[in-house]
Formats: sequence, C-alpha cells, structure tokens
Amino acid sequence: MKETDEQIYQKDKDDYLPVFARYKIVLDHGDGVYVYDTNGKKYIDYLGGIAVNVLGHAYPALVQAIAAQAGKMIHCSNLYYTQVQADAAEKLKNLSGLGKVFFGNSGAEANEGAIKIARKYAHMTDPAKSQIITAIHSFHGRTIATLTATGQPKYQEGFGPLPAGFDYVPFNDIGALEKLMSEKTCAVMLEPIQGEGGVHVPKDGYLKKVRALCDKYHALLIFDEIQCGMGRSGKFFAFEQFDVKPDVVTLAKGLAGGVPIGSFIVTDEVARAFHAGDHGTTFGGNPLACAAANVVLDTIEHQHILERVNEVGAYLKHKLEGFQKQYPSLITEVRGMGLLLGMQLTKPGRDIVDACLADGAIINCTAGDVLRFVPPLILTKENVDELCVVLEKVLPKYVA
Ligand SMILES: *Cc1c(COP(=O)(O)O)cnc(C)c1O
Repeated sequence: MKETDEQIYQKDKDDYLPVFARYKIVLDHGDGVYVYDTNGKKYIDYLGGIAVNVLGHAYPALVQAIAAQAGKMIHCSNLYYTQVQADAAEKLKNLSGLGKVFFGNSGAEANEGAIKIARKYAHMTDPAKSQIITAIHSFHGRTIATLTATGQPKYQEGFGPLPAGFDYVPFNDIGALEKLMSEKTCAVMLEPIQGEGGVHVPKDGYLKKVRALCDKYHALLIFDEIQCGMGRSGKFFAFEQFDVKPDVVTLAKGLAGGVPIGSFIVTDEVARAFHAGDHGTTFGGNPLACAAANVVLDTIEHQHILERVNEVGAYLKHKLEGFQKQYPSLITEVRGMGLLLGMQLTKPGRDIVDACLADGAIINCTAGDVLRFVPPLILTKENVDELCVVLEKVLPKYVA
C-alpha cells in the first residue's frame, strides 16, 4: 500500500535503528543525474548515493544487464565458476596492473580483507610484524577492524576493546610516518585522496615518499580507493595521478553502479599469503553484482567517461572557486580532483545542504564544515550550471 511521506517517517522512527540523520524527503526514482521524490519534485544529484551511482540513475545498459542476469541467475555461491565473475576480475587485474582480485559486498569488507591479507603476508616472515599505520581523518569503514583503521575517534568511541596494532599519523606529514615506521610495520593504509574526512589531496611527492618508506621497511602499501577510485579523480585509479603503485588496492562504492560489491586487489607476491579457506564470502562477487560491475567498467573504458570527468570536473572546480572569490568569509578553500571536490566553509554546512535540497539540489556536507560534491560521472557542464543557479541563491544567505 502506498503511504504518505509522514507515514513513512513514522514507520522509520518506529522500526528502523536510528543511526542515520536523514534528510526529510522520500525518494521514489531516478533518471540520469536527477532523482525524484514521492511528490514528483526533481533534484539534481551531486551526491550520487555517496559516490556510488557513477553512471547516474537508470542507466539503460546497466538496467538491461542487471535484469538479464537476474533472469538467468542472481546467485550461485563461490563454490562454482561464472563467466561474469571471471570477466570482472580480469578487467580489474588489467586496470590495476596488480595480480589477483577478490570480491566482497562493501567497502568495509574490502578493507577488512586487505587488512587480513597484509597481516598474513607479514606473518610469513615475522609474526610480530603487525603494525598497521593509517592517517588521521581517514575513513575505512565501520566493522570493528575498519573503524579501528579509521583515524577518527568519533567512529571508535564505545566500541572497545578495539583490535591491537593500529597507529595513526597526520595525512601529508612524511616526517611523522618516518618516525613511526620500523621493521615491525606490516602496512601503511591510506586513501590517496581522503573523501569522508573532508576531501584532502596529497601534497606533491607525499605518496611517493610513503612508497619509499614502505619499501625500506618491507611494509605493504594499501590504497583505499573506495571513494576516489572508479574514475572519480579523472584516472581510473587515483594512484595513477600520483604515479605510485600500491601492493593492495580496495574498491567498492561505484564499482557496480549501485549494486553492492567491494573488491581488494593484490600483487601476485602478496597473493601468496592466502590459500583455500583463508578468506571467503557467501554473496561477494555474485553473478548479479559482477554483471553490473562489467557494465560499469566497460562504460568507463569505452564511453569517454574519464575525459568527461576531467573536463566537467575542472569546470565545476572553476565555478566553485568563483564562489570562493565571491564569498571569502564563508568559503576558504576548494579542494579535490575530478569529480571528488570539497568546499571548506568557515561554519557548519548542514543548513546549506538543507537549503540546497529545498531548492532542488542534493549536495553533501562531510567533516562538519566541508561541502562535498561526488556526482555521477556522466555529469555535463550544463548540469554544473544548474547547480550554480542553486548555490548562487543559497550561499549569500549564509555569509557572515
Ligand atoms: C565509503 C567508504 C568506505 C566504507 O564503505 P562501505 O561500503 O560503507 O562499507 C571505506 N573507505 C572509504 C574511503 C570510503 O569512502
């Protein structure tokens, strides 16, 4: 039975664990870079399901592939081979230049797997080589291990005892990392571009120096590209922007355009640590998810998506910098690459997000005071102009 929005809010309040500070709209459907609520109101979507809907909503080739695969076989377990999983793994291996691919269901699970294989790999040479170093303001997920890896106390409070062996350094501070590392360091795990922590880009040469320290101490370099990968930075992997190769890279979010999937990809050397039974998953990489991932990967490769991300991303950044010049007391910096952009505010951003929503634009605020823009990668310059109309109206109201 179709219910009113008020009835749905009430049901959610009665029945759903209250962990989300939701915005008060009930979404009904999407089309391209737009979503529509139950009242038929149209919104331009600059969140893309949190960097997930890389091909936007209802992308015909994706819809068709999911429907066809659902009609054939949704799931069969990982006890058997499937063409679609073999194809998806081959594509990711080739794109990454690494050796072996594993599929799970989410970002946290991908990182959990990356942490497990790093520990096991180090354990082969020295059982005490277990330290994992991550960055302050990082975000790696919400399982017990990945919230421990996440360098933000607010995600950890109340969940102890946390697993041992995690240490943190400020992102972009190579001296701090150098001081902390030793032969006991198992891995350094970083987002090449921090997303949830406020859109922080590495300084020139930083990631190369991290790579050199990892080599010096025989530690693995794990890149969490769950948010910045899948073409979002303007290259398929963000690490290609910085000319640094990891030993392990994780993907999720946009990988299947909205169907749940996650992946960690390792070098053949690191893959030596895992044997039959060392890791597993019931759902991960099932035919439905892999059929979707294959469409996303093929579309990024063959439909000039990266060119578009670079062109439209540069245009969006230029426009956002224009707002910074216009309202310097409200906006102090515009950061990011491609279609992963952040606008540093001098005050909390939630009210601006609410006001944009009322005016038909879905944007996001992360880290309290950073407006984050992670739209579908099929965005056009005209779509940027549409957002600017809304921002032009909203931003002046919040200037001190
Ligand atoms: C979203 C995100 C995760 C967690 O992914 P989930 O699918 O929510 O578990 C991990 N790392 C980064 C960088 C992310 O952006």
